Amino acid sequence: MPTRTGFGRFGRWFQAIRNRQQTHGEIVSNPQEQEIIAALSGVNDPERNADVITLGMVQGLQISDGVVRFALEIDPREAEAKEPLRMACIDAVRKLPGIVKVVAVLTAHSDRTTNTPTSPRPATNGSATPEQSNLRPQVGQAAAADKPGIPGVSKVIAVASGKGGVGKSTTAVNLALALAAAGRRVGLLDADIYGPSIPRMLGISGKPTSPDGHKLNPMENFGIKCMSIGFLVDEDTPMIWRGPMVMSALNQMMSDVNWGTLDVMVVDMPPGTGDAQLTMAQKVPMAGAVIVSTPQEIALIDARRGLAMFERTKVPVLGIIENMSYFAVPGSDEKHYIFGHGGARDTAAKLGCDFLGEIPIYQEIRETADAGTPIVASAPDSAAAQVYREIAEKILSKLDATDRATQRDAPRIVIE
Ligand code: ADP
Repeated sequence: MPTRTGFGRFGRWFQAIRNRQQTHGEIVSNPQEQEIIAALSGVNDPERNADVITLGMVQGLQISDGVVRFALEIDPREAEAKEPLRMACIDAVRKLPGIVKVVAVLTAHSDRTTNTPTSPRPATNGSATPEQSNLRPQVGQAAAADKPGIPGVSKVIAVASGKGGVGKSTTAVNLALALAAAGRRVGLLDADIYGPSIPRMLGISGKPTSPDGHKLNPMENFGIKCMSIGFLVDEDTPMIWRGPMVMSALNQMMSDVNWGTLDVMVVDMPPGTGDAQLTMAQKVPMAGAVIVSTPQEIALIDARRGLAMFERTKVPVLGIIENMSYFAVPGSDEKHYIFGHGGARDTAAKLGCDFLGEIPIYQEIRETADAGTPIVASAPDSAAAQVYREIAEKILSKLDATDRATQRDAPRIVIE
């Protein structure tokens, strides 16, 4: 029988709740929480001969409308070995009444010798208040020593958006081309595995080859090296990915590809700020992230979430780009700010990050991207191409200012 050596982190959490109740007279009564914790107390880590609660492995428990989320802290080297434990935890919680879905992620444990005891109070609803966001796995704190990196790749930047359809991929492609036009060796990794559009936008078809049977050669057009899941599966095939499959596919596209020497790798992230994105942001050693947003308030709210996600994972946010910012009347300098003006700039100012520029809504941007000849390559003298180049210059000056030694290490999250 395992002996309980104490209450671990859970004990501290429990104590913190009790303290809060005593201090503030707060009522914290969520029987479901208690049930979940009780169920997890029955899941033993056979190697350490104790249950996951006693071992303090369960972090960031959240319950929202029957959906339970938590992280299991592990040594990243044991990711594969701990997969059965993760599944056992999911099974234990899934059996409980009223549980619709259980999401458990394996996360690298923080250095317990320096980690201050946090008090991860479970969130009881779905809205992510700043306080609750602190309850999520604090992987940024674990970011440090062992950075996997991508051999030969100097800097990785993410192009992200809070939601789909804001022009993230179009922006990523044109930025990659603008970075290449500035003389950098550029790769473009299409991590938007749910809707890979980069092959079409770069006008690349066919399948990558593997001369040695181990590593794939990237595809290439306009001087940009590119890898996308879209080369391996049909763009129209609906893909249902489970978390571990996502990370495994992305890992392969990063490390099992002959990228050669690159100054910048642009990663077109999947849209949104969910678990897949968080895992991705934690896994990839990123020098910075760029958030693409449209001017509408709803998109801006989503951009804020994106920003919060990168901050949580300690990836520096290089700035916000406003896409489809205004309609430029062809043949004149007239600009129509159809969706209002200045929202992204204001948000950037409020959030203390840089505003990188406004990209017009322009038929030729869409047509050229759809045709596989993005505007920066096919109409480099156009005003729109000039906007992309200016943004690329801003990004480059930020990247160049970052000493390589201070480049972000990849936090050690392992499997979703
Ligand atoms: P996301 O990657 O955010 O889902 P896409 O880059 O696929 O979005 O863009 C969605 C659609 O909007 C595409 O048809 C694209 O051509 C179009 N689009 C993106 N940016 C612009 C722009 N600045 N002007 C006109 N059309 C645009």
